[in-house]
Amino acid sequence: MNRQTYIEPAIRSIAGGFIVILGTLIYVFPAWSWLWLSLLFFVGLNLFQSGFTKFCMLEKLLKKLHFRSELDEIRDLSQANAEAEAGAAFYDTLGLLNEVVIELSQDGKLAFLSDHWLQLLGSDHRSNAHFLGRPFMVFVNKQDRESLGFLLHALLSGDRDPVSMRFRMLREDRLEHWVEGNFALYRKQGLVRGIRGVLRDVTEAYVQEKRISHMAMHDTLTNLPNRTYLDDRIGEEIKRSNINGSKFALLFIDLDNFKQVNDLHGHKSGDQLLIDVGNILRANLRATDVLARWGGDEFVVLLPFSQDVEIARKVASEMMRKLQTNLEKMDSDMYVTLSIGIAVYPDDGDSGESLLMLADKALFYAKSQGRNNIQMFSDLQTHATGFEDVDMTSHFVAAVKQNLLQVNYQPVMDANDHASMVGVEALARWHDDKYGWVSPASFIPMAENLGLINEVGRQILEQAMHHFSQRSGLCTGVKLAVNVSNRQLVSDDFYPMIMAMVERFGLMPGQIKLEITESIALHGVEQARGHLQKLSDAGFTLSLDDFGTGFSSLSLVHELPFDEIKIDISFVRRIKTPEGKILVRTIVDMGHAMQLALVAEGVEDRETADILREMGVEMLQGYYFSRPMPQEECTNFIRGLSAMDGTSAAPCSPVLPVA
Ligand code: C2E
Ligand code: MG
Ligand code: MG
Repeated sequence: MNRQTYIEPAIRSIAGGFIVILGTLIYVFPAWSWLWLSLLFFVGLNLFQSGFTKFCMLEKLLKKLHFRSELDEIRDLSQANAEAEAGAAFYDTLGLLNEVVIELSQDGKLAFLSDHWLQLLGSDHRSNAHFLGRPFMVFVNKQDRESLGFLLHALLSGDRDPVSMRFRMLREDRLEHWVEGNFALYRKQGLVRGIRGVLRDVTEAYVQEKRISHMAMHDTLTNLPNRTYLDDRIGEEIKRSNINGSKFALLFIDLDNFKQVNDLHGHKSGDQLLIDVGNILRANLRATDVLARWGGDEFVVLLPFSQDVEIARKVASEMMRKLQTNLEKMDSDMYVTLSIGIAVYPDDGDSGESLLMLADKALFYAKSQGRNNIQMFSDLQTHATGFEDVDMTSHFVAAVKQNLLQVNYQPVMDANDHASMVGVEALARWHDDKYGWVSPASFIPMAENLGLINEVGRQILEQAMHHFSQRSGLCTGVKLAVNVSNRQLVSDDFYPMIMAMVERFGLMPGQIKLEITESIALHGVEQARGHLQKLSDAGFTLSLDDFGTGFSSLSLVHELPFDEIKIDISFVRRIKTPEGKILVRTIVDMGHAMQLALVAEGVEDRETADILREMGVEMLQGYYFSRPMPQEECTNFIRGLSAMDGTSAAPCSPVLPVA
């Protein structure tokens, strides 16, 4: 209480006392009554003026007895008016908002709705009154009722306040509209009266968000889930398997020969094939399985199952079968098969990353087994050698993908003076961090099995031609010999590819020698002749490599447009024996009879070089002259030859002092 509250009653008490005293005096001394009366009149007037009636004890008493004065009535009325005015202004303001303000009673019925409710519901009704008193949940999409109900219940029971949730309204036009609802308890005088909430239409943002998250999780070409999605699902599946004790398999799938399809039919057809394959594979899986595009022509299937691991193999072979029948039905002229590698959780690996790696390894092994093949990682482990192969193979594939193969050069010398260089042979080299230098005798067959030989051949040709065109030592005066695998040669792309490359590097076909092994005839002499003739006509020199090791005969050489024979190292090694001498002499004589040039490889010492020269072999190659070496070293080698020769300009006809 403040001081004012004490002063007023005090004044009133004094005034009351004074009146009582005056009344007594008038009564006791009536003669003085005019004086007393005027005094009384004066004081009464003052008291009236100061609002005596308002503060009198009687009024207080009446109030205590719950009697209300008119003034009170007036005061209350004016206050109610002011509140009503403020309320109306508040509701008008709510009508301006895009959000809907709602009030729910404790039993979930609509107690208040702001104007936008009608729009949110797509309703034709003119006023919200129609909806008041009805349960709010009736207007919520059935799929979201349970979770929203749970949330509002938690709010009312005081567990959480406020709460928010995204849910769908059940609109009259049946369109799916998403709203974001924020709800809080509505209290009056400390008591919970219900729930107040704000509903905001977030459909546009929701659709946009969904589209963005779909794009982030799906591959644009095939619309299949991408790696990110797959990673998430693998994580979820691991948790599920740990709880249920169930298993799942990852199937790493690669399309065989996809590159050829792409090269042959163009990228558009290749893209369409990927879409078709995606659709066919997806159609043959359950809704709970995931088919993701891993990238390029690789897909991954996540296949949950309870216990029997063999299910994965069955699904894989069924996918292979369905793909063939569907492609046939579609009358597709693009024929592809599948290679599939499988790893199982938790048997093979305990994380998504390790499972994918193991499935990938199994896939490489499947490819190396001639493609159109399924391999389970668990099977590989039981054959340790196979596992090593798979591991190295996967390293090799990575190296090819990253263009890490290198080229070394081995000089080919003129046999007459043992000192003039007439050519270099480009030899592929691969160094791996784990396996060190791996021999091409290992990785070239690997590349053939994996269907990578065209790519390997292309990379080697490109590097060699690039070095050769730089005139940095591997000059134009000597021939560049490149090994061409048979598979590479018989592919339709080879001729246009090498022609384009020669042109690109400003070289002439006459500067290039193609070394081909005699097993080329295995593809049929006619077919081989067709391919070789085209190259010969274009001006390339054709050399029959490793002569004598295959099953062909000299008559074969006669039928094919070869320019030279390369006597295999196995004959050269035996040259010091009488029998070896006879063999090599026969080859040399017959070769000359067919007007073919002769090259001997594997010359390791002076004596061998001399014998070969005496026999009439024109060109020699081997460690005696030089081992294969990187480009810079080869350039220095050539410079060394020139310096000894005394010629500085042309490093192509140097003199090598022979010991
Ligand atoms: P090749 O074409 O017969 O190559 C000659 C092989 O003999 C090379 O082995 C070379 O290093 C080796 N050599 C050369 N002189 C001597 C010697 O005096 N003594 C001994 N012991 N060996 C000698 P390399 O480089 O290991 O290549 C092996 C085979 O791999 C090659 O035999 C060739 O068939 C294949 N190859 C190499 N590079 C390529 C390539 O780029 N493409 C294709 N398709 N095959 C290649
Ligand atoms: Mg060769
Ligand atoms: Mg050879």
